[in-house]
Amino acid sequence: MRHIYVHVPFCARRCSYCDFAIAVRKVVPADRYVAAVTRELETRKQNGEWDSEPLETLYFGGGTPSLLPPGHLADLIATITRSAHPLIRPSAEITFEANPDDVTPEAARIWVAAGVNRVSLGSQSFDPAVLAWMHRTHDAEAVPRAVQVLRDAGIPSLSLDFIFGLPTELNASFERDLEKAVALGPDHLSIYGLSVEARTPLARWISRGATTALSDERYADEFLLAHDRLTAFGYRHYEVSNYALPGRESRHNSAYWLERDYAGLGPAAHSMRRGVRSWNFAQWTAYERAAKGGSDPTEAREKLSERERRLERLYLGLRTDRGVAKAPWWTIERSREDLWTREGWLETTGDQYRLTARGWLRLDDLVASLTTSADGG
Ligand code: SF4
Repeated sequence: MRHIYVHVPFCARRCSYCDFAIAVRKVVPADRYVAAVTRELETRKQNGEWDSEPLETLYFGGGTPSLLPPGHLADLIATITRSAHPLIRPSAEITFEANPDDVTPEAARIWVAAGVNRVSLGSQSFDPAVLAWMHRTHDAEAVPRAVQVLRDAGIPSLSLDFIFGLPTELNASFERDLEKAVALGPDHLSIYGLSVEARTPLARWISRGATTALSDERYADEFLLAHDRLTAFGYRHYEVSNYALPGRESRHNSAYWLERDYAGLGPAAHSMRRGVRSWNFAQWTAYERAAKGGSDPTEAREKLSERERRLERLYLGLRTDRGVAKAPWWTIERSREDLWTREGWLETTGDQYRLTARGWLRLDDLVASLTTSADGG
């Protein structure tokens, strides 16, 4: 497999907006986790699901991967890269998601020695009141401190995550967050709009009126503010939620958007192989039980039809600034194409359609209308 994702499900507590498949643990069962993922890898190799290809990207996401003791992460990287054949390419991208308060000089030294060359920091905000509202475990000073520690340790590529579109009563200044973020000079920024997911503390707060519902207008204003500010600073807005300095795009996430096959290890991890999508048991306990016993921890598989693959190609392509090529199996109604072009939502260069930042605000509407167009494809 050229692209491998490893899901580390543990978090110290649940953030107020999060509905991810996580396991809240005061003490991370690191030995058991590494043993279970190692066993899953062996099972997949025995089942012939592990193609021998040079590994190009390895991504540890979560959850909170940085809650794993650094030595356990190093063991896991060694196990996975040993299983890649031929040996991992020297240029492989190894990304690790970290919470700022887990970044220490000693941990960073071990991460670098293990091969980690890209760290994505879950920063989210520089406002102490917002971080407390989000139930984050780090304080506002932790982000610049972590950036410095990672740079001193020799991590060559840093990404910072931020959230916009917060409820008005928080009086948060996203503009100030952007300024502070840019001042740290990250190679990459992921900027996500807050969304209300069922069964989260945020959804409960809104339903009982303790927090105002989110405003579409504020969402749009801040999305465009990020686009204008970050592109002015030389960042390429290369995907709806992602910005990079030239050459610093996430190669792992780009593989998803380019429809490459990938393998997922760990609870809730998804895989895509030869048109078949599969996903593991999301609950840590169910996953561990299956993996430890040598069973396949896959919960379900689905083979995508040709039509589903085409629609996915359209959707993924339109999320990126490269757009999608015209093809006989999909069309945009002429009047709609004219309207979008006039409004500055869509640009056409030769055979290539791409959405502008304003167009990305209407991505779902657009894809819904293309769905109809692709029905006969
Ligand atoms: S750290 Fe990330 S995965 Fe964990 S609860 Fe918070 S948002 Fe969810």
